[in-house]
Amino acid sequence: MAKTISDKKCELKETESVRRRSSSRLVGMKRPCYDISLLSRKKVRCEIIAQNVERRVKRSKGEVVRVNDIGSMEPRVKRSINSPSTDQNEEETVVWEGMRKKYKGSNAAKLQAKSGYRKVKQMTRLFNKLYFKYLYEERKRCNKPVARKGNKNGKRQSKRPDLKVLHKMIKTNKCVYRTKRFGNLPGIEVGDRFCSRAEMLVVGLHSQSVGGIDTMIKKHYGKLEEYKGYQFPLAVSVVLSGIYEDDKDDLDTIWYTGEGGIHLLGNKRQFKDQVMAKGNLALKNNIKQKVPVRVIRGHNTASSYTGRVYTYDGLYRVASYRTVKGKTGFNVFQYQLKRIEGQPALVTNQVCYNPTHLSKKLRGIVCNDISGGQENMPIPAINFVDDPPVEPVGYTYCKSVNVAEGLTLPTADVGCKCKGACTDPNICACARLNDGDFPYVGIDGGRLIEPKDVVFECGPNCKCGPACVNRTSQKGLKYRLEVFRTPDKGWAVRSWDFIPSGAFVCEYTGKLMRTKDLDNVSGNDFLFEIDCLQTMRGLGGRESRQRGRIHLDKTDNKKIPTEPEFCIDAGTSGGVARFINHSCEPNLFIQCVLSSHRDMSLARVVLFAWDNIPPLQELTYDYGYGLDSVKGPDGKIKVMPCYCGAKECRKRLY
Ligand SMILES: [Zn+2]
Ligand SMILES: [Zn+2]
Ligand SMILES: [Zn+2]
Repeated sequence: MAKTISDKKCELKETESVRRRSSSRLVGMKRPCYDISLLSRKKVRCEIIAQNVERRVKRSKGEVVRVNDIGSMEPRVKRSINSPSTDQNEEETVVWEGMRKKYKGSNAAKLQAKSGYRKVKQMTRLFNKLYFKYLYEERKRCNKPVARKGNKNGKRQSKRPDLKVLHKMIKTNKCVYRTKRFGNLPGIEVGDRFCSRAEMLVVGLHSQSVGGIDTMIKKHYGKLEEYKGYQFPLAVSVVLSGIYEDDKDDLDTIWYTGEGGIHLLGNKRQFKDQVMAKGNLALKNNIKQKVPVRVIRGHNTASSYTGRVYTYDGLYRVASYRTVKGKTGFNVFQYQLKRIEGQPALVTNQVCYNPTHLSKKLRGIVCNDISGGQENMPIPAINFVDDPPVEPVGYTYCKSVNVAEGLTLPTADVGCKCKGACTDPNICACARLNDGDFPYVGIDGGRLIEPKDVVFECGPNCKCGPACVNRTSQKGLKYRLEVFRTPDKGWAVRSWDFIPSGAFVCEYTGKLMRTKDLDNVSGNDFLFEIDCLQTMRGLGGRESRQRGRIHLDKTDNKKIPTEPEFCIDAGTSGGVARFINHSCEPNLFIQCVLSSHRDMSLARVVLFAWDNIPPLQELTYDYGYGLDSVKGPDGKIKVMPCYCGAKECRKRLY
């Protein structure tokens, strides 16, 4: 059954292989596609590509790998919330049917779900960008020797960037689901992560800045037609934050302690009886009326700017409640919440592993560390798809870019004179290159505030140390990545850790060479043209992203060629980034970074997180092809189907 790798290569020699450029919003491009040369079971599909026939190939629907703990990782059919399993009790199904009609039943509702997804994405990205911006401004302000008493309006500046963003987004109507509703919210999926209460508030997942129970009250919702006959208040969501000492959490079944009677700000202990009102009454009403609640769990993590990360864990039925004497002797209410079946598995607990026991613990592991010790943490490869399982072969791992023979990188700039770390943008010469501000805000090793045309980092001649925030992309891997085999896209990459928005993920490495020196381009799926300059100038069909003033001091007068002069070839040698697939809805983006020199035609290609990425979600970026932008040697437009599986996949890579 299983073919050898070389067989497959031969079979695929004809695959289309012209270099092309990006004309999308993102800088840079990579040549196709999913590591096609290693596809094993999809021979038919490969031949379709080889013949260059446009055909929409549907993914085998819903086939995904869901993992609860790493020890029991199995490809398994994802059951949709729309198709409750047969063993589910009937009552639940009735509730489900009602909600399905409301949100997911019709085509119109599907469309709504799609646009909901887009809106949620857009707003969370905006939230994070604004958050980093305000935080950066706030820190800059506090760094000044004498903090100003007030800004121009005479108002005090907020010390809480999250609240500042929240107010701004509410004011400019940039919130999603401002009208509360129970059940799932289209666009927010089980496993989605949020770094603050404010962020959840912006998307409407949980609209309480402190409280654990979010409710719909009669005054606001009683008169609405769709809620006729309901008894209010109703609970829509609860946050399990671990502050109630009487909570019991077995993941699928929770004993959730009602609200009230504790010192929220003090020792968090119960000091009086709870009262059956507000949130407590709402949860009780949910039982009778079979209204499920959204459950969100809060965990501590250093990766989040609040020190907490909130995971949406899906819908739970409020099964029953009881009054008990709590640990401190006062009456508390406890609500039994049962997770409704048919939802994606929980990934709420971060995956635990011990690098030294990898091979024993992980099934399907084909390589303990594809980097062979080069990276500062191992990158295992997992294969459940092939029989026998193969590991990624045919290349040499390289952590950083290798410069081709006969090519030399420009020498480093003078650099800045900051001592220890760069903190003051008014003094730092490198900050000045970035428009007078640092591109990163100093949270947990640095977060890129927003995508930029180019980022100037500190380099070898700067006086600052390796911990400087303006060296964020030079600090090596920070999240535990894994290369895994997919049924239809070849190899792919995901993280075992939560990756917060704006974080550095990895660099696209390989052999840095002149584009004109490339030979045997045919069959090489790993070329990345460094088209930073071309994109900035909107040359060759690329869209300029027009982000602020760029300092082109040295390159300004030089003629910029329409086609990039250099590329990174990760075909024979490359890092983990060579395995990252394209998606029409990516969670990473490409950022051009200059650190050891200032020549943009030789910029580094670096991947950053665009979203808060839950553990085990595939990492992807937009390869950036314009449709019909690729022509073969015969001049005909080439077509490559896309298998990214995104909800709004455009079905063609190009
Ligand atoms: Zn520095
Ligand atoms: Zn500096
Ligand atoms: Zn510097």
